[in-house]
Amino acid sequence: MEKLKQIYEGKAKKLYETESTDLLIQEFKDDATAFDAAKRGTITNKGIINNKLSEKIFTLLQKKGIPTHFIKRMNDRDMLVKRVKIVPIEVTMRNIVAGGMAKLLGLNEGIVLKQPVLEWHYKEDALHDPLINDDHVRALGIATEKELETIKKYSYRANSLMKKFFDSKNLILVDFKLEFGRYKGKIILADEISPDTCRLWDKTTKEKLDKDRFRRDMGNVEGAYEEVLRRVMN
Ligand code: 5GP
Repeated sequence: MEKLKQIYEGKAKKLYETESTDLLIQEFKDDATAFDAAKRGTITNKGIINNKLSEKIFTLLQKKGIPTHFIKRMNDRDMLVKRVKIVPIEVTMRNIVAGGMAKLLGLNEGIVLKQPVLEWHYKEDALHDPLINDDHVRALGIATEKELETIKKYSYRANSLMKKFFDSKNLILVDFKLEFGRYKGKIILADEISPDTCRLWDKTTKEKLDKDRFRRDMGNVEGAYEEVLRRVMN
């Protein structure tokens, strides 16, 4: 399978058509952005690391019954995926208070939630991905009731599987973002799963090993991504 026409370039990835109309190649870049692209930079080798980490997590989830767009990793930066129509909502799952939830509710980071919190954010950078609820999603026809239920079911299941997996690697899964798409009439998990989209803290020291190091200018961003890959592949 080869890259034909580039059809999309996002903040962290490019998408290319292939000879198959149902399949795309997703290329992972080293570019990093934060705060809806107000802050830009690069993280050396991030694309290679996120490609491998996404392969690992998608494979795990797929084995446990969550359908994903992942077909195979082709090389360092390219992944073969199913061509989906992205549902324009970002699903955030939270286990511990951090980032947007700390800000929204004036809470300290690190509070362990009594149960996971699922949030919908309308996918629109210009509006800073605003928080919406089930009624918004249904009333605006963003997804049907049945699709909403499926997305919720997969998101909670992905959270418990990923929490357990990262825990076994001495990492706390604080929160993460998922994106889903429609493929042949079914909802499947798409996009990527990486330290760009998950908050991961060291279980012992609570050190941040994710994109917050870039967002907050904490230094050693590359080292953190490499450390996550090392632990996950162990
Ligand atoms: P928050 O809402 O606290 O900013 O983000 C919650 C979680 O979702 C974090 O793990 C964060 O990395 C991820 N997340 C939310 N929105 C985005 C986004 O637009 N891009 C990326 N890469 N991750 C996001």
